[in-house]
Amino acid sequence: MSISDNLQAIRLRIAAAEKAAGRSPASVQLLAVSKTKPDADIMAAFAAGQRAFGENYVQEGCDKVHRLASAGHVIEWHFIGPLQGNKTRAVAEAFDWVHAIDRDRIAQRLSQQRDPQRPPLNVCIQVNVSAEATKSGVAPDGLGTLADAIAVLPNLRLRGLMAIPEPTDDVALQRTRFAHLRQLRDDLNRRGHDLDTLSMGMSQDMEAAIAEGATIVRVGTALFGARA
Ligand SMILES: *Cc1c(COP(=O)(O)O)cnc(C)c1O
Repeated sequence: MSISDNLQAIRLRIAAAEKAAGRSPASVQLLAVSKTKPDADIMAAFAAGQRAFGENYVQEGCDKVHRLASAGHVIEWHFIGPLQGNKTRAVAEAFDWVHAIDRDRIAQRLSQQRDPQRPPLNVCIQVNVSAEATKSGVAPDGLGTLADAIAVLPNLRLRGLMAIPEPTDDVALQRTRFAHLRQLRDDLNRRGHDLDTLSMGMSQDMEAAIAEGATIVRVGTALFGARA
């Protein structure tokens, strides 16, 4: 299967899941996760109409942003990997979105380093909905404080929440985790936030995520094939 065929198959999966959940068509955005994949793969997906791409590693991601911009491709770039304090500047300068913020300090640096002449950097807070000690993400009971701190930063726009639950084939468990993230988002909105984004669901669990309200699904393997 070509990347263009894979993209078409994923679009059909998303449309079917939207329909099954009674959601409107195009209410779920596909983020193409291109980490470790060559520029040629990104360009193949771009040629087939894909415009939003996700990268995990700062150096690789920034290099791709700059190369593809020079080649004239207008792409919406999302940084979805974990981010360390000493790498925030490159991300604030190159990307349009950051999905995995779990500390106030990282958000502050991104806001300081984002050019105020540009649109604000869209950000999501990563929440640890699986309660695994090893996983990154803020614990649900620390979410409200972090969201309040990020919402006032001038050059960021807090868009929503993101999660990477533990991998499982148990669809009921997948849905429980995603429903939890949605409830946390709804709680924040009841408290005065205005969050429109739930970044959840990957190649293996996008249907469960869409059933529970995902607005962005982050898909790598199903689009570009297995990573080396
Ligand atoms: C790699 C990655 C994905 C894509 O996962 P696939 O299983 O390949 O679809 C999505 N989100 C994040 C944060 C990732 O690191």
